[in-house]
Amino acid sequence: MPTSDFVYNGRATRVVFGSGSRVHLKRELLALGAQRALVLCSAEQHALGASVAEQLGSRSAGLFDRAAMHVPVELAVEARTVAVSLGADCVIAVGGGSAIGLAKAIALESSLPILAVPTTYAGSEMTPIFGLTEAGLKRTGTDIRVLPKTIIYDPDLTLTLPVGMSVTSGINAIAHAAEGLYSRDANPLTSLMADEGITALARSLPNIVKNPNDLSARADALYGSWLCGAILGSVGMALHHKLCHTLGGSFDLPHAPTHTIVLPHALAYNAEAAPDAMKRIAKAIGHESAAQGLFEFARENGAPIALNEIGMREDQLDEAADLSCSNAYWNPRPLERGAIRALLQRAFEGSVPKP
Ligand code: NAD
Repeated sequence: MPTSDFVYNGRATRVVFGSGSRVHLKRELLALGAQRALVLCSAEQHALGASVAEQLGSRSAGLFDRAAMHVPVELAVEARTVAVSLGADCVIAVGGGSAIGLAKAIALESSLPILAVPTTYAGSEMTPIFGLTEAGLKRTGTDIRVLPKTIIYDPDLTLTLPVGMSVTSGINAIAHAAEGLYSRDANPLTSLMADEGITALARSLPNIVKNPNDLSARADALYGSWLCGAILGSVGMALHHKLCHTLGGSFDLPHAPTHTIVLPHALAYNAEAAPDAMKRIAKAIGHESAAQGLFEFARENGAPIALNEIGMREDQLDEAADLSCSNAYWNPRPLERGAIRALLQRAFEGSVPKP
C-alpha cells in the first residue's frame, strides 16, 4: 500500500531498559545535569521508594511517599513545597501512574526534570499529559515540561505487581495502542509500535498469570507497555479513552479495570468504521475479531468484565452516556447517544461486545 501523508510527533525521552537497570539511577541523575533528587512514591510502595532514596545516598534530597490516584491539587502543592525546601533539582517517580502523575504536577509549576521508574503498565511516563483534581473535578492538559526526561524500565520492580493488576494494567496499555491504530493522527511509526506493543502484551500477560515471577514475561510486558505508552504520548485518543475518562472521573471507578472492561465494547462500536485497525489488533492478539478476542482475553486471564463488578450502579448509566457524548473526542464513527447508552449497558452487565 502506498504511504500517505502524515505528521509524526517524536518525543525526546531517554529509555534505559533491562533487568537490574535501577542500578544506573545515580548515573542517569547526573546525566540530566541534576545533583539531588526528591524521590516520590505511593504509601503502598514506601519500601521501594526508601530503597531508591538509600541507593542514591547523598544524591537523594528526601522521600515523599504519599502519591495518590488522580493527583489532588493540595498534595501537588505540598510535594512541590517539599521539593523546593529540600533543594531538589530533579524528581524521581517510582511507581505507577499516580506517582508519575505527582511528579508531573511538580514539574508543571517548577520545571524540575523528571526521571521515571515505572512499576505498572499504564504508560504515563511516555506522555506530556498531566491530570490534577481540584474540588472533585479532574482537569487534564498537555505540557511538554511534564514529559519525563529519562525512563528506567527495570522489570525486576514489576515482580510485585499483583497478577490481577498486571492483567488490567496490561490491557490499559493495549487500549492506547488499539486507539492509536484508528486515531486521526495514526502514522506508520505509531502503527508499527502498536502492532509490536499489543503482540508483546498479548504474549506475556498469560505467562504472568501462570507464573508472576516469570522475569522474561515481565520484561516482555514492560517492553509492550513502553511502546503503547509512546503511542498515547504521540497521537490523539478516541471514544474508548473518553468513556474511561468519564467513568473514572465522574463515577470514581478504578483506572485499569475500567479500561479493561470498556475496551472490547469501544472496539465493537468502531469496528465497521476502522476495519484496518481491527485487522491489525486481531492479528496481534491471535483472534479473528479484535473486540471479541479482547473480551475473551480479559475473561480467560481472570480480569473483571462487567462495570457492575467494580462499583458502577445501573442508575448512573444514563448520566455516563450523556457525559461521554458531551465535548466528545474525535472518533472514527460519530457518537450516537442511543448506541453509546447500549454499549454502556453491555459493559455494565458484562455481555458480549456488539457493534
Ligand atoms: P497507580 O499508580 O495508582 O497504582 C495502583 C496501586 O498499585 C498503587 O497502590 C501502587 O502503589 C501499586 N503498585 C504500583 N506498582 C506496583 C508494583 N510493582 N508492585 C506492587 N504494587 C504496585 O495505578 P496506575 O494504573 O499505574 O495509574 C493510574 C493513574 O495514572 C490514574 O490516575 C490515571 O489517570 C493516570 N494515568 C495517566 C496517564 C497520563 O498520560 N497522564 C497515563 C496513564 C495513567
